Amino acid sequence: MMPHVAVNLIYVGWENFTDTDKAVVNAACWATRQTYWQVGFDIFGFDAYSISVADAQGYAYIDSDAEATWLTSDYTIPGRSVDVFLVKGYATSTAGLSPVPGPCNKYLTYPSMTGSVVELIGAGTNVAMPHEIGHYLGLHDDYSDPTNLMYYTVSSGGPSGLPVLTFAQGAQMAQHCFTSLP
Ligand SMILES: [Zn+2]
Repeated sequence: MMPHVAVNLIYVGWENFTDTDKAVVNAACWATRQTYWQVGFDIFGFDAYSISVADAQGYAYIDSDAEATWLTSDYTIPGRSVDVFLVKGYATSTAGLSPVPGPCNKYLTYPSMTGSVVELIGAGTNVAMPHEIGHYLGLHDDYSDPTNLMYYTVSSGGPSGLPVLTFAQGAQMAQHCFTSLP
């Protein structure tokens, strides 16, 4: 077995997600697995949870990083999985937000961030999702290699190839408390 990390997908404002959006999420899950397999890491689970539009209220559209942080405080799925909150809109130029590294205790509250928030941005989601999970597992942004998964900006057109992870990055993520070692 490979080192492995489980992920929960939490759809924020479930009724707003179209079939096209769900296909984007599916593609991003597959891209996430392929990206991490490069360094012998398995990202698995992708158990789906939903927050209705009525319950999500303002969270269905994220206006600020503080709001994204509150979102992760207000909802927690028990267990050692990375909670990935999927939102259809995020009002900054970034495609998501995550703590670096994410805490082991997901019941901490604001200003602690206890999950990753990922905006659906079409094909770019194929990088945004694994990038935000990388932050939670302890990886910082990279400012030198545009092919690296952790390059600080995500092209909205999506990647031209599979984003790169280095073995040093894999070794770093192996130390996170949510990583199960074989
Ligand atoms: Zn980043």
